[in-house]
Amino acid sequence: MRVLGQEKALAFLENSLKAGQLAHAYLLVGPEGVGKRTLALHLAQALFCRGERPPCGECSPCRRIASGGHPDVTELAPRATSSEEGSRQSALGIDQIRELERLAHLMPFEGPARVFIVTGADLLSGDAAHAFLKTLEEPPPQVHFFLLAERAERLPATIHSRCQRLELGPVPLALLEGFLRQECGLPSERAKALARLSRGRPGWALSALAEPTSLQGYEERLGELWSLLGEDLEGRFAAAARRAESRATLLPTLEEWQGWWRDLLVVKAGLPAAAVNLPWEKELLAQAQRLSLKDIASALARLQETRRALELNAGPRLALENLFLGWPRLNPEAAAPAVPLKNSKAGFP
Ligand SMILES: [Zn+2]
Repeated sequence: MRVLGQEKALAFLENSLKAGQLAHAYLLVGPEGVGKRTLALHLAQALFCRGERPPCGECSPCRRIASGGHPDVTELAPRATSSEEGSRQSALGIDQIRELERLAHLMPFEGPARVFIVTGADLLSGDAAHAFLKTLEEPPPQVHFFLLAERAERLPATIHSRCQRLELGPVPLALLEGFLRQECGLPSERAKALARLSRGRPGWALSALAEPTSLQGYEERLGELWSLLGEDLEGRFAAAARRAESRATLLPTLEEWQGWWRDLLVVKAGLPAAAVNLPWEKELLAQAQRLSLKDIASALARLQETRRALELNAGPRLALENLFLGWPRLNPEAAAPAVPLKNSKAGFP
């Protein structure tokens, strides 16, 4: 597994491995798609590799780890659950942690150790976190946990304190752009646009490439924002009710919208080349022209507040109504392109 960027975390882990001082538990913190899982898998390969320069990527353990078929490497991910209000959420449940605990106490099948990669560790349910803490307090020998989290502050401090924390930041855009050009064969302009749009998250860029629908979905959510700007209060409140149904998709959407408002701010400041949403430059320029700096800054501030409130479990519908209430209104033609999304740029350029 090739890790893009993340030199500091990578060097730290590789040196610990070489020195035979790999810790029992690491907490890898960073935004979705930045490379947390890839880094954990890379280290697992380095640990199990039989090649001369681990991880070689060619030997049987390396290949099986990459394809998810190595018996000593186990991955856990949150599962969708339904909350009492009926909104969909994801969580790592107690049954998953019990199974992890059981496996952790078994001897490794073939390698020198057992590796557990826990995606979404910040989504451990209360009782699951409690059970997991016990395992972390007395880890079986030869077991290494990699906890992956976007928001480490959501993890109980007791779990936090048992892990060695490593931060993963966005990958430099030039590096990602080069990777998309050389390894994925993208033409320069498209590689540049995709790297920028991913905000330095290779996983995001690769999944957008692998599933064109994910980019279409992104464009649709931008379109949703544009048409909201043209809506009156009634239309906005209806949208809030519709949107409030699924908390799980709400936060990522708000994050994307925040990126759009940030771009409006950047364009307004006279730096259109620094915008992330390059393929939709025309829409950006048109909207920026019609909005005041004050409107944009206050819409952005409201978005941040709303995200924070939702993270603290505010009711999604009320939070969204509040958000949309404070957004400026554009006449519908100016808010959204005349032929919205028919000339889709999701397959840009
Ligand atoms: Zn290998």
